[in-house]
Amino acid sequence: MRTQGPEAWVERWRYGRIDEAVAWDAAMRFYFEDRLDAALRAAEELAGAAMGAYLSQYRVIEAEQATRLVSRSWRAAEWLTVESPPNESVLDEPALAAEVLDACDDVAETFGWRHGPQTWVTFLTAEVDGPWLPTRHGYCIDKNRFTKICLPVALTGDREELAEAVRHEYAHVMTGHRTAGRCPRWLDEAVAMTAERADLSFRDFATGHAAWRGPRDLDAAFREDRESVEGSQVVRQAYRQAAALGATLVGRGGPAKLGALLDAFADNSFLTEVALRLTGQDYAGEALRQVYGLSTDGLFAEARKGID
Ligand SMILES: [Zn+2]
Repeated sequence: MRTQGPEAWVERWRYGRIDEAVAWDAAMRFYFEDRLDAALRAAEELAGAAMGAYLSQYRVIEAEQATRLVSRSWRAAEWLTVESPPNESVLDEPALAAEVLDACDDVAETFGWRHGPQTWVTFLTAEVDGPWLPTRHGYCIDKNRFTKICLPVALTGDREELAEAVRHEYAHVMTGHRTAGRCPRWLDEAVAMTAERADLSFRDFATGHAAWRGPRDLDAAFREDRESVEGSQVVRQAYRQAAALGATLVGRGGPAKLGALLDAFADNSFLTEVALRLTGQDYAGEALRQVYGLSTDGLFAEARKGID
């Protein structure tokens, strides 16, 4: 998944009190600097009831800081740092670095990309792996100096699952950079699910047991409450629909063409950029037309038809 960026956090303080907003602003600035100790201390000033609105973000800071206290970090490549708790990881450092590098190389080769942006892959201590951490299965967040991927350390005990999870999250790193941050969530997850290569069935979309959503509804579905039963079901459906969309695009020219689609978000002429800004910035629609000769609705219809 890709966690909500600073915009969503800013949205929250609009409704909070000013002293809360000041404490949270400091916590956030430290968090995006990856200064986790300072971020946690600032967040802890939001004691008691005031914490409520910020609880899920607080848990994320707490999880990353608890991990830092028991971890070592090292450079696995010029662009890659790995951080992991040595007493909890099933793999030793060279083996873990090799697995992570392999998975990232796979993404770069599959979608025709060259590594470059500074990337951290952090394995979260088992101590914080619980239902209270909504992002416990893995997430990717743009910090100021690098993009950080966080995954549960338990994954080091299963190489296949580890590779799938790293491929998924590293695809988000790639997509964010290739599209200059303009990719809608549904396409971001479509690329990530394609990179992950999980074995999925789409039959319940054909039988009507799962809703087939349009682009806006699909983006909204990823934001459903993952902790509720209904919400988590909607989120799972959304990931599978994204995978079906990814499969349709790959069926039309392979994964390298999907990579070219990402580049098309940021290769516009000055005049195209002006037109996009005037017409509501449908970057995905523009890129899809340029690379596949398809509209967004056309892609959604074709993917839905492919399932029957
Ligand atoms: Zn994702």
